[in-house]
Amino acid sequence: TGVKCCEVNEKRKPIAGSEFDIRADLAFIAIGFAGPAARGPVSELAGQMKIAIDSRRSKNVEANDRDYRTSVEKLYAAGDVRRGQSLVVWAIREGRQAARAIDEALMGSSVLPR
Ligand SMILES: Cc1cc2nc3c(=O)[nH]c(=O)nc-3n(C[C@H](O)[C@H](O)[C@H](O)COP(=O)(O)OP(=O)(O)OC[C@H]3O[C@@H](n4cnc5c(N)ncnc54)[C@H](O)[C@@H]3O)c2cc1C
Repeated sequence: TGVKCCEVNEKRKPIAGSEFDIRADLAFIAIGFAGPAARGPVSELAGQMKIAIDSRRSKNVEANDRDYRTSVEKLYAAGDVRRGQSLVVWAIREGRQAARAIDEALMGSSVLPR
């Protein structure tokens, strides 16, 4: 029926008395930095799609940085979801490389930059 919210301080601890409700018919969590695998009550996309997760503590989607393929056919992973929390420059680089890998898989070759 909704989401219970509160403000947090700089250490991401709830600020007492700041609670409020947002009414909703449907709520889903789509924050990249929460990671792809379930932690606590977070419903996990990776589990629902049965994507292999790597063995690192941060539990990221398993995919190499050559073709960015996951364990699920035609599903690719790049950026934080693959390498864990990182930097924008890495996300951009991986996104471009993954686009090339997908183009190659679909077309047999690619003119996109490496
Ligand atoms: C607080 C903070 C500060 C940072 N500061 C810096 C910095 O100063 N410099 C720097 O280089 N990097 C910084 N980073 C890291 C940088 O933001 C990330 O490395 C980068 O954004 C990763 O890009 P991405 O495209 O891989 O993932 P994201 O930017 O996280 O994109 C993932 C997207 O998927 C969406 N999503 C998630 N789940 C779903 C779903 N189920 N359905 C639909 N959409 C979904 C999310 O809404 C999001 O838009 C910071 C990160 C954080 C959290």
